Amino acid sequence: MKVRILGCSGGIGGHQLRTTSMLVDHDILIDAGTGVADLSLAELAMIDHVFITHSHLDHIASLPLMIDSVADMRIKPVTVYATDATLEIIQNHIFNWAIWPDFSEISIREEAVMQYQAIRVGQQIRLGERRISAVPAEHTVPAVGYHLDSGAGSLVFTGDTTSNDVFWPVLNKIANLRYLIIETAFSNREKPLAIMSKHLCPSMLIDELAKLERDAKIYITHLKPGHIELIMGEIEECAGDFKPRMLQNNQIFEF
Ligand SMILES: [Zn+2]
Ligand SMILES: [Zn+2]
Repeated sequence: MKVRILGCSGGIGGHQLRTTSMLVDHDILIDAGTGVADLSLAELAMIDHVFITHSHLDHIASLPLMIDSVADMRIKPVTVYATDATLEIIQNHIFNWAIWPDFSEISIREEAVMQYQAIRVGQQIRLGERRISAVPAEHTVPAVGYHLDSGAGSLVFTGDTTSNDVFWPVLNKIANLRYLIIETAFSNREKPLAIMSKHLCPSMLIDELAKLERDAKIYITHLKPGHIELIMGEIEECAGDFKPRMLQNNQIFEF
């Protein structure tokens, strides 16, 4: 599997700041934040599967526009995977004909433009040799992370989450784990905000990483724009032993 980071910032602004999305090979998206807008129309048209972690705008912003842009270029529906709770929010609040058309009800050449597929925590979707499973997350809205398994190796993306004891036993069972992408949205100074908005700050991150029982390369995502150096400096101070690196836009993982 080849994963390319299209966006890994907590916000927008400037050349490098795009919100959460990753492209898996040429046909799968994990989240559909603003980074998706950098793809060409031809690249957008090749996306068959979109896995959504949760309904917050920074993770779905490009989804409605992408679906519309490629609708008449495709011969099969784009499948949008999320939990039942997240699908319900997206249907009620985005694809509701008021904000945007419900493309699951629009057909071109007798095929719906998009279709929804519910996924539960622990459930695995097989796409050829590639396996994608939802893993638990704890956020202000229903949320999951995703485990991508090529057979040879695994990458786990937490999505947006705060401290979550349920997540780590799942992660620790993954024998071929290579990469963990974990969020740290706020600095320690903003810990009350991290707790209230169910994100992580560096001191909470170190408490979480103490539950990791595997050797994995750790990458930090979702840093708040304007606080990037501060947050990474605090992480360096308290979690240095884990050698966490900041996830970079356009970074590529092959496993
Ligand atoms: Zn969120
Ligand atoms: Zn977010």
